[in-house]
Amino acid sequence: MSMFISFGSGKHAEALKNSEILGSRGIRAASLAQLDMPICPGFIIPHEHLAHFINNPRGVVPELKEFISDIGKTMGKSFGGGKNPLLLKAVESPMLNVQSSLPSIHHIGLIDDNVEMVAEMSGEKFAFNEYAYLISSIIRLSIAASDDETEIEALEAYLGKLKKAKSKSTILKTIDEFREILPAEIYSDPLFQLQYVVQQFDEALKKSPTSEDSAVMIQAMVYGNFDKDSAAGYFYTHHIVTGENELQGEYFPAAYDESAPNGKSLDNLGKKHLKSLQDIAVKLENHFLELRWIRFAIEADVLWLVDQSSAPNKSAQAEIKTLLDLRDRDIVDNDYLIEKVKPGRLSEILHPTLDPKSVSKLKTQEGGIAGAVGAAIGRVFFNAENLITAYRQAQQAGEDTNMILAMPSTFAGDVKAIEVAQGVLSSEGGYASHAPVVARSLGKVALVRPDAVFRKKSVQIGGEEVKEGDYITMNVPYYEDPVLYIGQGSLTKPVLEHSGLLDFLDVIQTRIENIDVHANADQPRDAQLAQKFKARGIGLCRTEHMFFDESRIDRFRYMILAQDSVKRQEFLDDLAKDQTEDFYELLKIMDGHPVTIRLLDAPLHEFLPADEKGMKDFAAKAKADGTGLTATAIKERSQLLREFNPMLGHRGIRVAVSYPEIYRMQTRAIFEASYRLLEEGKNPRPEIMIPLVMNPNELKVVRNGKKIEGKHILGIRDIEEQVSRGFKKGPLDYRVGTMIELPAAALNASAIARYADFFSFGTNDLTQTTYGISRDDFNTFFSDYTELDLLPNNPFKVLQPQVKELVTTATLRGRMVRPDLKLGLCGEHGAEPQNIDFIAEAGLNYVSVSPYGIPIAKLAIAQMNL
Ligand code: PEP
Ligand code: MG
Repeated sequence: MSMFISFGSGKHAEALKNSEILGSRGIRAASLAQLDMPICPGFIIPHEHLAHFINNPRGVVPELKEFISDIGKTMGKSFGGGKNPLLLKAVESPMLNVQSSLPSIHHIGLIDDNVEMVAEMSGEKFAFNEYAYLISSIIRLSIAASDDETEIEALEAYLGKLKKAKSKSTILKTIDEFREILPAEIYSDPLFQLQYVVQQFDEALKKSPTSEDSAVMIQAMVYGNFDKDSAAGYFYTHHIVTGENELQGEYFPAAYDESAPNGKSLDNLGKKHLKSLQDIAVKLENHFLELRWIRFAIEADVLWLVDQSSAPNKSAQAEIKTLLDLRDRDIVDNDYLIEKVKPGRLSEILHPTLDPKSVSKLKTQEGGIAGAVGAAIGRVFFNAENLITAYRQAQQAGEDTNMILAMPSTFAGDVKAIEVAQGVLSSEGGYASHAPVVARSLGKVALVRPDAVFRKKSVQIGGEEVKEGDYITMNVPYYEDPVLYIGQGSLTKPVLEHSGLLDFLDVIQTRIENIDVHANADQPRDAQLAQKFKARGIGLCRTEHMFFDESRIDRFRYMILAQDSVKRQEFLDDLAKDQTEDFYELLKIMDGHPVTIRLLDAPLHEFLPADEKGMKDFAAKAKADGTGLTATAIKERSQLLREFNPMLGHRGIRVAVSYPEIYRMQTRAIFEASYRLLEEGKNPRPEIMIPLVMNPNELKVVRNGKKIEGKHILGIRDIEEQVSRGFKKGPLDYRVGTMIELPAAALNASAIARYADFFSFGTNDLTQTTYGISRDDFNTFFSDYTELDLLPNNPFKVLQPQVKELVTTATLRGRMVRPDLKLGLCGEHGAEPQNIDFIAEAGLNYVSVSPYGIPIAKLAIAQMNL
């Protein structure tokens, strides 16, 4: 058994058999060797054998010589000899994949005797600088290895002087001056030099608790600056941002490494080498099943690989496209792709992503709480007013309007600034604090850095000071730690069609079996996106959103404020035309799929102007439109509609009970649109959903109607019958169902199911009403609760046990009465992968999520089905 394990020369095929003692760098090198790649050859000294270099230095010599000679044969050079001697490097190979804290020692084998010869070959400046670099690195390693203060002091003095020496004469003079600090053989005996370095590694590693089992790797040096046919370079096997199947990298002609200026495109490298790199890229991906990074050097027209690793910061798009290519090459199957991609990462594809290259030279501050994922770049402003003023000025001057609001915490008055900003940086609270919550709802990025110290015109973060107007770049990925960069990076905007996401969705679809994914959509644009993502229907169309449009809001307000039902009906008739078109469009886009239309849910006063100014402007319009509504009447009526607790107030089915004409208008519009489509040969499948139901009687009236004192309140079924009479085609396939979003409704499920073809669990309200925590005010105390571990998860994100119990109870009770009862969930919880297992176990038929959540929910379902 030999002490060392070689790769790239000699018996390298065996190397990986010992993977547990090679260390991370050793494994990387040995993997390349095993794949018959042109890795610079070398060998690994496992940790257990390092001690021999100190205890029995003579004993290691024969084997050391043999291994070095093997390397020399592969490289066509000899260690310590000639104009072009074999030089080696020694590096720590830690067991964990972490950065070594010890210096790497390059150019081992350069000594007083051969440095002149090397200078003849590759120039005086290079040869002597590298000699100085070798000695400096040995000194730094010796400092790390030593416990002796006097020795360290002497070494530091030597190092300080050598650092300043730049010319041949000053370098030689310094070495002469300090010669006795290191053993004399360092300057005369290459083998001794190597042994000494390994000894120092052994001593230094013993002192570090994280490195105590590290191996040491010895590897041949190659020189990209050797001659005009030499180069150094690096590449990624796919583009790390776009995921294109192309090598992304550069090379530096006649340069030692990639720190040289003037990198060139790999396309100029020449056919031979480019082809080799492309073959290497495919082989590597096929082996590691992921996007990889490679460093290479060409010495005298011969290509060598120096190192390789997985790409640390690839975009989700790049990950998916690489996996799709691997699948197309038949290396992996669809299930592998489904298993590999984390669902939350899909949201990154839909947001702009950071170009990692653009920040490679910026100062980096890692850490913090991911408030809202994405990447944002902009100038920093420390209050909303300054940001808005700067934004307007930039807009007028045609300058960059990208800005970031940075404040300890934000409040309602700051929302306007968050709206125009790219993101928010804060220091107080957490995931559910105001800044992250608002940022998420507005599609902005949020980062909470508890260590940030705010001053009036600056913020101090981890030793860096950022002043007002300075650029920062925030990268807040879904699964990795957030990173703040001091300075301006650049972003890449996603193009869905080029992202690979749609192809990936086809892959995911192969495992979607038990649960359908529907979309929460009320605009044709959302419905179209849902179609692209192959949603099986619309699970929640919030109709109240349809009236906030500028062209409708006034008419809707006139309707609400109408003095009598005749007047109200006039406005409703007018709005009905728009509603019919709305539903016609949605049903047409989703042809053949269910479209669940929820009748008006919001409290009526939410549609009215909120402040004095709004009220005044509206009164002026009402006057101009000749509505007969006076400012006083508007004010009085608005005040009457105000509620102390609107979330538990006059909303949902309660509006239908008080103002049946509003629901009638909406229902009629749904049926008019559906019958029109039927006549056009389409297959509309409307599902009318009634919100905030608490007992069966409410639903019974709204669905079936009621005769009372000679008056007939029309139900949904009556209206369908009336509308159907005006059309030839029929019958229409429609359903009437309800939301289950109150505990009473969940417990009443068996009775309610008598009047409902389907239930959709509105878990936002169901969480609110089960726990008695307000959806809107919860953030004020959530961070206190998390701190004390009283609520481990945000209940509006992760389904809580008692909410789950109510869902399960309602499901069982509902299906007992109506075995074919269709069940769905349309709260925000549907898009959270953590909830998917429960949703499947509970036996729900579908989840309905925002269009951007569809791929995430689908992937979570597919993973569950693997
Ligand atoms: C819910 O309450 O879960 C729901 C989907 O309805 P909304 O969020 O519109 O109240
Ligand atoms: Mg609700």
